[in-house]
Amino acid sequence: MRDHLLEKARVLVKEGVCDHCLGRQFAGRESGDFEEIGRKIRSWAGGDDGNLCILCGGIFDRLDELSRKGIDALKEYEFETFMVGSRMDRILEAVEECLHEFLEIGTGVLFKVHFNREIEKRISAFYGKRVSRNPDITLIYNLSDFTVDLQIKPLYIYGRYRKLVRGIPQTRWHCRECRGRGCEKCNFTGKMYEVSVEELISEPFLELTGGKGAKLHGAGREDIDARMLGDGRPFVLEIENPRRRRVDLDLAEDIIRERSGGKVEVLGLRYAQGNEVRKLKSSRYRKKYRVLVEFEKEVNMESLKNALEGLKERTIEQKTPTRVLHRRADRMRKRKVYQIDVLSMTGLKAELVIEADSGLYIKELISGDEGRTKPSLTELMGVACRVEELDVVEVEGGL
Ligand SMILES: [Zn+2]
Ligand SMILES: [Zn+2]
Repeated sequence: MRDHLLEKARVLVKEGVCDHCLGRQFAGRESGDFEEIGRKIRSWAGGDDGNLCILCGGIFDRLDELSRKGIDALKEYEFETFMVGSRMDRILEAVEECLHEFLEIGTGVLFKVHFNREIEKRISAFYGKRVSRNPDITLIYNLSDFTVDLQIKPLYIYGRYRKLVRGIPQTRWHCRECRGRGCEKCNFTGKMYEVSVEELISEPFLELTGGKGAKLHGAGREDIDARMLGDGRPFVLEIENPRRRRVDLDLAEDIIRERSGGKVEVLGLRYAQGNEVRKLKSSRYRKKYRVLVEFEKEVNMESLKNALEGLKERTIEQKTPTRVLHRRADRMRKRKVYQIDVLSMTGLKAELVIEADSGLYIKELISGDEGRTKPSLTELMGVACRVEELDVVEVEGGL
């Protein structure tokens, strides 16, 4: 080691620094990990190591004990990858910055980074797990009170759901009266509807994973009174704070079907990534519907078919439907109808099949919503029409 560096090392040793902190100042100039470098330099510089380290205040003497805290905190969690971060007193960083300026040394390795690496090394050795920058679990060490917080990456499951009955919303719907706190109007459930697709799917998963909560992200949503049939609708379930990350997905499918009593089924479950939620939300899928329409007065097949021709391959302009205006902004929406055909007609009713862009309001396409949707079946027929039953029979695409 060069004389001028050794001189600086002597100053440090005299002030009192531990081997870790000493080594960190000269990293890259000698080989070995920081502690080894520190030990080597101390032997050249002379002097004892009796003093409390001015740089870390003795934290590096407690690495094993502090790693143990992290190891204990992780005990109940299943994970493949992890990472350590830390919060520390600005004062410790400031001391080191001053020192670098004063001695004109320093290798750019921050105290914090050094500490995190040392803890990571020990936890990795204990559990045999990898360190990653996009980890399942992040441990945050608070170096002022030596507590450890965990940040657990949510677990994401992709699949498709079928809703086989009417009257269930896709997601939990807070009671309008109490906003979820529970009141007389909602029978103290805090909810507008007793159960939702979200709850029927997430509850079994919360039990299997030990998670704290779950959110269903759907590729669009059907009306509460519409069924979701065919191959189902793509979704990603996001499970917060899972204790277990590997669950039997086939078993989950079975439990969901059984517990929901045939209301909801899921298929094609697989593990997913967080960024798939955004993908799912931003993509537009074509959808196919089966619609039972009721006419105000009798119509004949020919005039119905003519009216449907007028909707085929047409772009429909829709102002926000009156029925959702209380919770959505009044906007103009443009969506295309690709196919629209009649399957059968009896008396005042006809069964139609419609293929359209996702987001097209089908009920309003039929009723016209008092002129807010144009064109509409009502407008083209000159007879008031309304949807009696609606089923989504196909959602194209998926991830
Ligand atoms: Zn130290
Ligand atoms: Zn309520």
